[in-house]
Amino acid sequence: MKNKKLVYIFNEGNASMKDLLGGKGANIAEMTKLGIPVPQGFTVTTEACSDYYNCGKKLSNQVIEQINNALEELEKSSGKKFGSTLKPLLISVRSGARVSMPGMMDTILNLGLNDETVEAMCNLTKNSRFAYDCYRRFIQMFASVVMDIDDSLFEQCISNLKEAKGYKVDTELTGEDLKGLVVNYKKIYKDHIGEEFPNDPKFQLFEAISAVFRSWDNNRADVYRKMNNIPWDCGTAVNIQEMVFGNKGEESGTGVAFSRNPATGEKKIFAEYLMNAQGEDVVAGIRTPEDISTLEIRNKVVYDEFVAIVNKLEFHYKDMQDMEFTIEDGKLFFLQTRNGKRTANAALKIAVDLVEEGIITKEEAILKVDPKQLDVLLHPNFDSDELAKTKVIAKGLPASPGAASGKIAFSTEEAKRRHKLGENVILVRLETSPEDIEGMIASECILTVRGGMTSHAAVVARSMGKCCVVGCSNIIINDKERYIEINGTKYFDNDFISIDGSTGNVYGSAIKTGECKLEKDFETFMAWADEIRSLKVRANADTVKDSKVAVKYGAEGIGLCRTEHMFFAAERIAAVREMIVAKNLVQRERALEKILPMQRKDFIHIYEVMERKSVTIRLLDPPLHEFLPTEKEDIQALAEEMSITYEELDSTIKNLHEVNPMMGHRGCRLAVSYPEIAEMQTRAIIEAAIIVNKKTSYNIIPEIMIPLIGEVKELKYVKNIVVKTAEKIIAKEAVSLKYHVGTMIEIPRAAITADEIAEEAEFFSFGTNDLTQMTFGFSRDDAGTFLKDYYSNKIYEFDPFQTIDQNGVGKLIKMAVNLGKGTNPNIKLGICGEHGGDPSSIEFCHSIGLDYVSCSPYRVPTARLAAAQAQVKNPR
Ligand code: PEP
Ligand code: MG
Repeated sequence: MKNKKLVYIFNEGNASMKDLLGGKGANIAEMTKLGIPVPQGFTVTTEACSDYYNCGKKLSNQVIEQINNALEELEKSSGKKFGSTLKPLLISVRSGARVSMPGMMDTILNLGLNDETVEAMCNLTKNSRFAYDCYRRFIQMFASVVMDIDDSLFEQCISNLKEAKGYKVDTELTGEDLKGLVVNYKKIYKDHIGEEFPNDPKFQLFEAISAVFRSWDNNRADVYRKMNNIPWDCGTAVNIQEMVFGNKGEESGTGVAFSRNPATGEKKIFAEYLMNAQGEDVVAGIRTPEDISTLEIRNKVVYDEFVAIVNKLEFHYKDMQDMEFTIEDGKLFFLQTRNGKRTANAALKIAVDLVEEGIITKEEAILKVDPKQLDVLLHPNFDSDELAKTKVIAKGLPASPGAASGKIAFSTEEAKRRHKLGENVILVRLETSPEDIEGMIASECILTVRGGMTSHAAVVARSMGKCCVVGCSNIIINDKERYIEINGTKYFDNDFISIDGSTGNVYGSAIKTGECKLEKDFETFMAWADEIRSLKVRANADTVKDSKVAVKYGAEGIGLCRTEHMFFAAERIAAVREMIVAKNLVQRERALEKILPMQRKDFIHIYEVMERKSVTIRLLDPPLHEFLPTEKEDIQALAEEMSITYEELDSTIKNLHEVNPMMGHRGCRLAVSYPEIAEMQTRAIIEAAIIVNKKTSYNIIPEIMIPLIGEVKELKYVKNIVVKTAEKIIAKEAVSLKYHVGTMIEIPRAAITADEIAEEAEFFSFGTNDLTQMTFGFSRDDAGTFLKDYYSNKIYEFDPFQTIDQNGVGKLIKMAVNLGKGTNPNIKLGICGEHGGDPSSIEFCHSIGLDYVSCSPYRVPTARLAAAQAQVKNPR
């Protein structure tokens, strides 16, 4: 990395340089270009982050030199000097990855302060309270975020002092109090680090930059990256910016603003601020901020300028902006802007409104909504009848919509542990911090006592699509005795509470949830997505209920109907078990005769729901012993029903046991051993289609799918059974019925020999669950336990069972597509593994020319949007 430019002054960059300067850095540079008042500074690039890791977690001489030069420039332009005892330059250090990432080190303010420069600040401002307030904050931030000292030690220290002095709020602390705090804070630092608090501003700066780079690799950032498919190697940038002070006095303040309401999408500036405060006070939710409307009364000039800048930024970026601003002695500065995180409903409303306001095109609107966010819209709300009967016990701010019931958990550790045990928990905290990200993931929803709509809990929950209520100040948490108290009533860790993230209401019991209502914007937006996309979207549905949901959410057919799922119903399992343990053909056929009418009825109902849409039905796939009883009394009951002895049945069950059932007697192998099962299923599929076609004008053309093929002769063999059976019925019924026979491509050998297989198959559906399992040689059921070691060692970054491994599994799919099209140009191609609902995998499927993806019904809207986005990015 010789002679690489690793540091950019703000006026050298622009918004298109996000990969290099990070989102924050690129946007600050853009604001500078737009003439918006921004405190000046420079950005250390994401490539410098890679350089830091390549140098064994050290800043190279090259980057140090460039930082020194940029600092000199900043000194010149500001007229201040780093470490000066006359006019000291103080700076903020902030991380800034390509996309904003909770979980990483965020901000250090007031860097450059030491025992001398703090005195210079006292002289300059004639305000020792202010100077020492900045200094104690800096020591605390540096100690906790750079040196990893427990933050609560400092909080405890300030609480003790306030208690001793009888103060209620921080603003009552005097200059002398704060000076005393500095001494105590430095002592905490020395006790933990074994050295004095560093006086040298350059040392402080390089340590802070290194800490930002280090935080890129911490566990919380890792969790967030994995959840959002952000690759590790893109790194974070660091922004160094001259300090402006919102805590200089009553003419100063700081706040956070959204150009539209991030919860509802309403076209109205939504902003909160605090006078005489620094940024962390607003975000941490320690003091409850004021609505921006009061600023108009306080200082109309600043307010008008603020509104003008907010509007200018939104118009410039053509999207809702999330901004931070500071007022220093009545002068307004914008510290950062970015496209704001928003709820799913707000995202849709904003996208639709921006098109209707003529600001963006439909294609641009399509790219503005995260497909995964649509999930949230499909989640249930509280049942209105039950809700009407339940008393509200507390009310907070409706930070993120949705509704959930669960038992109270007091910490992230506890939430994770109890979630693993299968409990639905609600994380109840004073406020959350980046440490809580895993606890938030494990919880049904989040409830905090403190904080506003821009607090950590609110922002993170919204981006996760989790229901969240914040600022619920009449809750008293007693985590030692494990209860929360609301208006004198105690709720213990075993008690259910319910939270409504759309109203902010808290309820003291569990409440049933009901269906969600989709807003008009959803329909408008999804219609645009459908107009744009070329990839079709089907659903994996095995029941009438699933099929109805699939149709409701816009599925264009069923891509995978797993017939085995129909076998588990209580009234059927006995016949299925009889079929499995049958000793001979006669016994098996007798059992199959019992199953046939049930299967036929299932298919009739599914065809009726799907009307003219395609339905792909897969023949039986899983290992048979999955259906067998394991408990002694169940075995006994089945033996009695079958008029055989317990011992006889028990021995049959034992014989059916396989060491590796996932690679055992399953899929088409069952049809090879027991053709009569495939015959019965084909009969049910074909007869059902004939019945529905007689009754309706749907013209059902069944698609029969043969699973787990690895060799073309295997396919020919099973296909022959299917075709013979189908033709016999069609001839007997004297009707004309079209049907298609295809296969799943889910064994690597099938992908490699796809040219041969395509000669026998009318369609391929990529079963990427098994294809991933067999390509990696990972067991689908067990990989989770050791994959985490692969993530932590950066061998794999994402779960290959969730997102297609394009380099390996993806290559096989591409190969199969090309080979298949080579021998059968009309072959229809789809995917029905879990990846069919994953946006980045869908983009891949679009790029390699698949005809459709198939996913769970609730993910259909996500898939429709992801398919449209793929088309906008890469038209085909
Ligand atoms: C697959 O393997 O991707 C698939 C869809 O089949 P199943 O998950 O039922 O094995
Ligand atoms: Mg499979």
